[in-house]
Amino acid sequence: AKRAGGNSCALFEQHMDARALEQLSLHTELRQAIAQGQLELHYQPKLDSRRGQIRGVEALLRWRHPQRGLIAPDVFIPIAERFGLISEIGNWVIDEACRQMQLWQQAGLRMRVAINLSVHQLRQSDLVERIATALRRHEIEAAQLLCEITESVAMEDVKTTLRAFGGLGELGVYLAIDDFGTGYSSLSYLRRLPARQLKIDRSFINDLDLSSDARAVVDAVIKLAHALGLSVVAEGVETPAQRDILVALDCDELQGYLFARPMPAQALLDWAAGRDR
Ligand code: C2E
Ligand code: CA
Ligand code: CA
Ligand code: CA
Repeated sequence: AKRAGGNSCALFEQHMDARALEQLSLHTELRQAIAQGQLELHYQPKLDSRRGQIRGVEALLRWRHPQRGLIAPDVFIPIAERFGLISEIGNWVIDEACRQMQLWQQAGLRMRVAINLSVHQLRQSDLVERIATALRRHEIEAAQLLCEITESVAMEDVKTTLRAFGGLGELGVYLAIDDFGTGYSSLSYLRRLPARQLKIDRSFINDLDLSSDARAVVDAVIKLAHALGLSVVAEGVETPAQRDILVALDCDELQGYLFARPMPAQALLDWAAGRDR
């Protein structure tokens, strides 16, 4: 029996592909990464589409791996989710964003900071308390923090979403529906969410100057959002042509490589100061 067990194990190892092995090693390293301070937040500006002023930033997670260099969240967040590390990472993001906001405020830069919340965080019963604690610790007003939740996550479990949104809304935190257009929100559901902002998914912005369909969708989404009292952000704006269309369609805020890439906190401060002059 022992032998058979050994064999099946060997077989298992043979069949483990490179990707699975890679995930396993990244997973072990990710546990250490949190403790060793290898996670970073980079910040991408969101600009007022009419005046070009900075309205806020979105905090985007990066892993500065000692050998592999900077790793994007699309690579390690799925691993963190699979191995139960996402809550710990999410909690770190909440505190770090608030800490950074306080430093910027002390340097005279006052703006709303957005963080991304995962479905696991929405299910955390102490999410609201954690956010409240971080705000208090760093002396940040609730309305300065914006939480982005993707439309598909918000739709996955309506009851959880309504409960979490309710608690966060009561706290005074701003809420945004992210990647809008990729899920299947019903209009009545959208109306019930106490969200302030709607972010149109990059896929629609990408096609904006090429496809009249994309343009029609974006036009309709902006009108819908405004009718519901939400402000609209376009993400992934890369060309002046896309920007011009979005301004013409009355989009409120723009975010994308055309203006700035996500950057470390100090670089963001310099970038903002450079624009003021
Ligand atoms: P997202 O929330 O939709 O974030 C926008 C992504 O688009 C970011 O990728 C950003 O760098 C990228 N981007 C911004 N402007 C442009 C552009 O003009 N062109 C193109 N091609 N891309 C642009 P990033 O930083 O790699 O993040 C990917 C995703 O990882 C995010 O998508 C978000 O879902 C997730 N994520 C990032 N940080 C966190 C976090 O702290 N917690 C959680 N749960 N998820 C996070
Ligand atoms: Ca986002
Ligand atoms: Ca997005
Ligand atoms: Ca996205």
